[in-house]
Amino acid sequence: MGQFFSSRRSTNGSANERGPLLGSSSQAANPNRGDPPTQKQLEEHAKHERVRAGIGAAIVAIFILAVVLVSYFVSDGLPGDPLEAALVVLGRAPVIDGHIDLPILVRGIYSNNVSSFDLNYPMPGHVDIPRLREGRVGGFFWSAYVGCTDDRPDFLKPTNQVRDTLEQIDLARQIIAHYPETFQLVTNVDELQAAIRDGKIASLIGIEGAHQLGNSLGVLRTYKELGVKYLTLTHTCHNAFADSCGYLEWMPPRHGGLSHLGETLIKELNRLGILVDLSHTSDSTARQAIQLSEAPVIWSHSSARAVWNVARNVPDDVLKLIGEKKGQKDGLIMVNFAPQFVAAEGFANVQRVADHIDHIANVTGKRHVGIGSDFDGIASVPRGLEDVSKYPQLFAELRSRGWSRFDLAGLAGTNLFRVMQGAEDVAREKQRDNVIPAWDIYRKRRDIGPGKSGDVVGDLTDEL
Ligand SMILES: [Zn+2]
Repeated sequence: MGQFFSSRRSTNGSANERGPLLGSSSQAANPNRGDPPTQKQLEEHAKHERVRAGIGAAIVAIFILAVVLVSYFVSDGLPGDPLEAALVVLGRAPVIDGHIDLPILVRGIYSNNVSSFDLNYPMPGHVDIPRLREGRVGGFFWSAYVGCTDDRPDFLKPTNQVRDTLEQIDLARQIIAHYPETFQLVTNVDELQAAIRDGKIASLIGIEGAHQLGNSLGVLRTYKELGVKYLTLTHTCHNAFADSCGYLEWMPPRHGGLSHLGETLIKELNRLGILVDLSHTSDSTARQAIQLSEAPVIWSHSSARAVWNVARNVPDDVLKLIGEKKGQKDGLIMVNFAPQFVAAEGFANVQRVADHIDHIANVTGKRHVGIGSDFDGIASVPRGLEDVSKYPQLFAELRSRGWSRFDLAGLAGTNLFRVMQGAEDVAREKQRDNVIPAWDIYRKRRDIGPGKSGDVVGDLTDEL
C-alpha cells in the first residue's frame, strides 16, 4: 500500500514537470533569436522565469514529500529505535503467551493457598503483576499441569492425576478471581479480545497432557465446562491416546502416533472447540493429528529442531505441514524459551530465541508463529529473557531483523486470534450439524459396563 501510494505521487510529479520542459524547448526554436528582444518577449521571458522558479520549488517540495512518505512506509511509521518500535507495537497488540506455569509454582511453594502470596509484589518465579505489565502482556494460557507417571503397558495404574488437574484448574480460577482488576478468565476469541480492550490480562486455561484425562472423554468434556481451551496431547510420557516425543532424546513409540482412542479424541476436541496442542508429542502423533484435525492446531510451547536438535522441538518436515498453501493446515507454533530447547548449555539468549522464531517463520510464514515461554515451569532462562517483563527485548531483536509492525503484532497475539477463530468456527459447524459427543470407552478399562461397576447399578444389571 505504501509503495502504491508513493508511486502515484511520483507519477503526478513527472506529469507536472512535462509542461514547462516542452514550453522552453518551443521558445528555444524561436527563429528571431538573433534580434534584440521586444518588450513583449522580455515580459514573457520574465513570466517563464517565474513559472520555472515556481515549478522548481514544487519539484523540491514533492521530492521531500516522497522521501518522507517512503521512509514512513519503510519504517511502518514506527520509531527508529527497535525497542521503542517494539513498545509501540505491543501497546496496540500485547503479548499472549501460550504457556505459563504459575499454577504449578503456587502448588509447589504455597500449597495452593491463594491468600498466602500477593502477585502485586515480587514473586519467586518469573511472573507477577508488575512484571506482566512491564512486559506488555495482554493474556496467557495458565497451564493446569500435572506430571505424568510411566504407567505402561496399559495406562491403567490408578493415579491422582484427575484430582490434581481439578486442583490446578481451581487454583488458576481462584487466582484469576482474586485479582479482578488485572485478570479475566476467557474461553473464546471474542472474550479474549474484549478483555484485552478493557486493559485486562486475558486468562485462558490449558491442560498439559492427555494423561490428565484418566483415559476418559467424559473428563475432557467436564474440563471444557471449567474453561479449558487447549489440551496438549501428551507430556513426556506416552498415554492411552498418543505417543510422546520424550524429552531431549527420542523415545521408542507405543502406538506409532495416535491410538484409536486418540483419533476419537481429536474429533471430540474439534467438536468442543478445544485447541489441539502438539507440544511434547512425537513426530508421528503430530503428523497424524494435523491430518485428522479439521481445526487449526497449535504448539503451545515448542521451538525448532533445525535450530537446536532435541526431540522436544518441531522438525522442518512437520513445520512444512503448516501454512496457507494447498494441503497445509492453519496452525501456530508458539516458541519455547527453555534454554535446553534453545541452544547449547550456556548459549541461550534473546538472539538464539529469535533464531527459532525466524526459522519457523521462514518455513511456515510469519502468520504461524507465536510466543510460548514456559515461564515458571523452567529452572533456568535465556540471557535477556529472564522473566515476563522482558518480552519487548525479543520483539526489539526481531524488529532489528526487519520484522514489520504487522509481523510483530501477529507474533504477539493476532495470529492466535485467527487460529482460535478457526477452531471455534469448526466447533460451531459441528454443533449446527448436531454432531453427538463421542461415547468411546478406553478398550482396556474393566471397571465400566454391565456387571463391572461393583456397585448397586452393576448388581441390578446382574439381576436383570
Ligand atoms: Zn511442557
